[in-house]
Amino acid sequence: MYINGQWQPGAGDFAVFNPASGERIGLAPEGGADDARAAIDAACAAFPAWAAAGAYERSAKLYRAWELMMAKREELARLMTAEQGKPLRMALTEVKYAADFLLWFAEEAKRVYGEIIPSARADQRFLVRREPVGVVCAITPWNYPVSMITRKVAPALAAGCTIVLKPAESTPLCAMAVFRILEEAGIPAGVANLVTTSAPAPVGEVFCTDPRVRKLSFTGSTEVGRMLYQRAAAQFKRVSLELGGHAPFIVFEDADPVHAAKGAAAVKFLNTGQACISPNRIFVQRSIAEPFLRTLEARVAAQRAGDGMDDKSTVGPLFSQRAIDKVEAQVQDALALGATLHTGGKRLTEGGLERGFFYAPTLLSAVTPAMRIYREETFGPVAPVILFDTEQEALAMANDTHYGLASYVYTQNLARAMRMFEGLQFGMVGINDINPTSAAAPFGGIKDSGLGREGARQGIEEYLETKLGGFSI
Ligand code: ADP
Repeated sequence: MYINGQWQPGAGDFAVFNPASGERIGLAPEGGADDARAAIDAACAAFPAWAAAGAYERSAKLYRAWELMMAKREELARLMTAEQGKPLRMALTEVKYAADFLLWFAEEAKRVYGEIIPSARADQRFLVRREPVGVVCAITPWNYPVSMITRKVAPALAAGCTIVLKPAESTPLCAMAVFRILEEAGIPAGVANLVTTSAPAPVGEVFCTDPRVRKLSFTGSTEVGRMLYQRAAAQFKRVSLELGGHAPFIVFEDADPVHAAKGAAAVKFLNTGQACISPNRIFVQRSIAEPFLRTLEARVAAQRAGDGMDDKSTVGPLFSQRAIDKVEAQVQDALALGATLHTGGKRLTEGGLERGFFYAPTLLSAVTPAMRIYREETFGPVAPVILFDTEQEALAMANDTHYGLASYVYTQNLARAMRMFEGLQFGMVGINDINPTSAAAPFGGIKDSGLGREGARQGIEEYLETKLGGFSI
């Protein structure tokens, strides 16, 4: 663990495994509630000096961290593929995305402006100043084990906050590598602290209940996010939550069905479908279903599942037995209720794949609202297609979920594109675009998908308080 500028052991170690092979790839320190408190002590002690260091100094350190991460891109990506399973090409893309947040917030650090507000009284002046919220605790997931860390650490540090981070229990090695970069970049002792553990609950409990912690930032499941939000409410901590999604991908008859199907295949199987913005329900207008499904089926069948270190692999393993069980249960349920299986539909157990959690890229059509896959987040390599007749019907079905993170629309009709952009109850809408994400763009959801935004100009706001000064002269 990295606490107060020192690398420290835990009460013991826990093992980390490669999900493609089941091999043990390393050990991480077993931290607990006491380590979380020690890290918060360090973050509290470091806060006044870091907040006072000034935007230019904080910016320079983040800029250095960006340079170092880019220089170590290949090494970090290899570690990510071994620890998380995604194909090396995708891991390289993620490290670049992760580094982008360091650069973006190195720049935004210098753009935290105040305001002067006119008063009705001639003798009065109002000044508004933005201040760091204080000590931040952050919890990150395993599916994007490097970028989800920089997306929180970079804006927190840019704003002048200090931070304690707990990474997912299955990807602590990536987190340790990121913190080595922060150390090498010269981030002062206590400003950024890392507590690793295989038992998240006691550490999470300290994060939620220690009164010195002023902000909690979490990315993970809706279930855990809801629990943390409730726990943190007692002390009115500021909370940012980036939770699950159930993204609709809507293809209208005025779109090119082949282009749309290629887009659907590309985004659906990214990270083996283990992304909160992964399309979970593909709605296709009935009149173009045939060419769309033909192309999508060919694209899905052409995916190659395998170890991410093999450059022929386009999809990696799922992350755990639990993940495989969920995907299998959703597919079985859909088939029992009358869905059509075009390709896939089973666990892959040959050619060495039996050692990892591999599930065949799968295409289902004739999916209906009665099926679990229509309602539940899948987090796996299954593309369920649902047909519709009218725009109104598509919009109603797309919004018929308690989630509200990403959504996608394919249409060549400008007025329809605008109606969908405005009508979809989601934080992000890709119009003929499968990747509406960037360090420069606000990422986040509404409804059960969470609170707050990460990245962009908005990302740093999450770590700032507003202070008003009323001056009588
Ligand atoms: P997933 O099901 O995708 O693994 P989780 O929400 O369980 O999503 O995990 C996301 C992050 O939340 C991980 O860092 C995990 O360790 C953490 N987490 C899980 N349960 C708790 C808890 N009770 N308290 C604090 N953090 C938790």
